[in-house]
Amino acid sequence: MSHLEDISLQVVQFYLSLDSDLASFQKQANYGCITGCSKCCTSPNIEATILEMLPYAFHLYKDNQAETIYDSLLSNKSPICSLYKTLQTETQKGGCSDYAYRALVCRLFGSSFTRDKSGESTLLACKDIKSTFPTLQVDVNKQAHDGLQVPLATNYYNQLSDIDYNLSKQQYPINEAMRLAIEMVLNHFHYSDPSSEDHKNAS
Ligand code: SF4
Repeated sequence: MSHLEDISLQVVQFYLSLDSDLASFQKQANYGCITGCSKCCTSPNIEATILEMLPYAFHLYKDNQAETIYDSLLSNKSPICSLYKTLQTETQKGGCSDYAYRALVCRLFGSSFTRDKSGESTLLACKDIKSTFPTLQVDVNKQAHDGLQVPLATNYYNQLSDIDYNLSKQQYPINEAMRLAIEMVLNHFHYSDPSSEDHKNAS
């Protein structure tokens, strides 16, 4: 296994552990995102690092979609995440078309906290979640004083940075982060791994 594949697998493992932490926290704190919303995905200001999108890029490569998606990202001038697909039903407005490979920010937003100097936690969330769960922050802070482990976004960004500092130090608009991650994977297989076809065929 190449170094880049190893890094990507570490990110996958990190995501699994993170998702499990957040699910267990939400269960204990008794809250969750609003079903069918996905409004945050329509923000034009979502940023991610290349490292966050490496598993997505490898996934595309294995599915023989990397070049096609790369070209579409090159010509895509929209600031909205290219993975967001609209769906107009009564209960669902749209959603992520490759949810398993979403970025770190997509996992943390609505589920993690920042902490101020006095130790109080603030949920990273939109107005809709805050108004749906108006007592959440107060409740979480009370539970935290009683020993509940609050998921802090900075801890997870630090863990990501520990996997690879260079690939995680720069934030890009999310479509650009995807494009750069795909470019890295394409270059990796094209220039440095003579067994690239073996890799595709093995997956
Ligand atoms: S990657 Fe998926 S979850 Fe994240 S902003 Fe894009 S559509 Fe939304």
